[in-house]
Amino acid sequence: MIAKLHRELEVKVEDKTKELKEQTKSLEYLAHYDSLTGLPNRILFLDKLKQAIRKAKSGNENATILFLDLDRFKEINDTFGHEVGDKLIKEVANKLSLCAKEKDTVARLGGDEFTIILENRTHQETVAITKRIIEVMQEPIVIAKQEIYATFSIGISSFPDDGESATILLRNADTAMYKAKDNGKNSYQFYNSKMTELAFERVILESSLRKAIDENEFVTYYQPKINSKSGKVIGNEALVRWNHPELGLVPPMQFITLAEDIGLIKYIDQWMMMNAMKTIKKFQEEGIETGILSLNVSMKQLENKKFIEHIKMLIKDLDFDTQYLELEITESQIMKNPESAIYTLNNIRNLGIKISVDDFGTGYSSLSYLKRLPIDNLKIDRAFIKDAYKDEDDAAIVRVIIALAKSLKLNYIAEGVETQKQLDFLHEEGCHYIQGYFYSKPLPEDEFKEYLLKHA
Ligand code: C2E
Ligand code: CA
Ligand code: CA
Repeated sequence: MIAKLHRELEVKVEDKTKELKEQTKSLEYLAHYDSLTGLPNRILFLDKLKQAIRKAKSGNENATILFLDLDRFKEINDTFGHEVGDKLIKEVANKLSLCAKEKDTVARLGGDEFTIILENRTHQETVAITKRIIEVMQEPIVIAKQEIYATFSIGISSFPDDGESATILLRNADTAMYKAKDNGKNSYQFYNSKMTELAFERVILESSLRKAIDENEFVTYYQPKINSKSGKVIGNEALVRWNHPELGLVPPMQFITLAEDIGLIKYIDQWMMMNAMKTIKKFQEEGIETGILSLNVSMKQLENKKFIEHIKMLIKDLDFDTQYLELEITESQIMKNPESAIYTLNNIRNLGIKISVDDFGTGYSSLSYLKRLPIDNLKIDRAFIKDAYKDEDDAAIVRVIIALAKSLKLNYIAEGVETQKQLDFLHEEGCHYIQGYFYSKPLPEDEFKEYLLKHA
């Protein structure tokens, strides 16, 4: 009796286990496959991509993903309805599966987004598969007697070149896909790192840069300029920093060009000018010898009447002595339109403000214009300073610039001086105005004040 009961119980447990196993299986299926197309879903895709990356790593191979996004799917959905949209997605999934080989993983990420993992293919093979997909999609798909044209924009990224992890590869393929869309859809793009920079700059930086101006997230740093003979400070260059609430201090290289492109630079420059002039004026009133304050401005601003008015107003409001004020303008900007620069810079000079030609040596100055330009100072570009002590070509350029400055009766200063060797070379050539990490990095206001007090 007991044995019989036991047996029955065993059967029951077995049945239950089988049932559970089946349930788990179908749950697992649901969790890993897309119910509409039967293709692997995002979770399984990421799993498989991670596997492919591991395999590629150990075998010194590559793994490539195609990120495919249907063009105008929303329009199709809106025109023909969701039912047709779903059928289209199913058809497209079939077509993709036919284009891929058995060992490739075709997955549906969701919506109208698909991915394909290609393992260890050459660039040519990847291009061939991608082209085949684009070709196949040129044929209309017939659903409910409607001919529907659905094309793909495709972004491609590869391990190891475009990323080490599944998430980064996916993100980069997505970025490349957007580039394909930008280029007119129905096309493909291989990822390159420039795209990320651009995408980052455009999307994130643009909106947060606008906010930064409203919320006053900019900070002024001051880099001392030194007379190396006396060790005294002759002035400083005001350099903008962006104190981003999440990114921390963002250097200007990462946002000045964008700010110029989208027309925000004038706000930044106006703010910098006001803030730096206020600070220097305050120091002067405390009896501190500040030397000359140099500000970076673009030529474009100076051609703007309002900007000049702004400078005039600041000078007047702060009662700022303009002999302590200098503007740094790059050589290449001046030489873009030297005739107009002569006119514009004369207006600045008439206010008693000095003009320094920044990044000198990189901008192909013509000597005839240099003679006519109302300038006070040449700033030798750091690219030549770097190796001049050991590279004869760079040394020759530095010597020519110094000779040029002397014959035009201009001052000259070396920027980017980091080492004793560079300094020694400059001393031998008779250049004693120095800016660079050798003396000091750009400093926040309070540290700059201390520096001034120590080196007065
Ligand atoms: P720049 O005018 O050539 O400024 C000099 C750059 O060299 C600064 O970079 C400075 O930090 C860096 N530097 C100084 N000494 C050394 C050194 O010894 N070694 C090296 N490797 N670098 C040194 P920063 O602050 O990143 O500024 C980059 C550029 O951004 C500036 O180049 C300037 O063109 C622009 N910029 C900075 N502030 C402003 C601003 O307020 N307005 C505008 N329009 N442009 C600005
Ligand atoms: Ca500068
Ligand atoms: Ca410079």
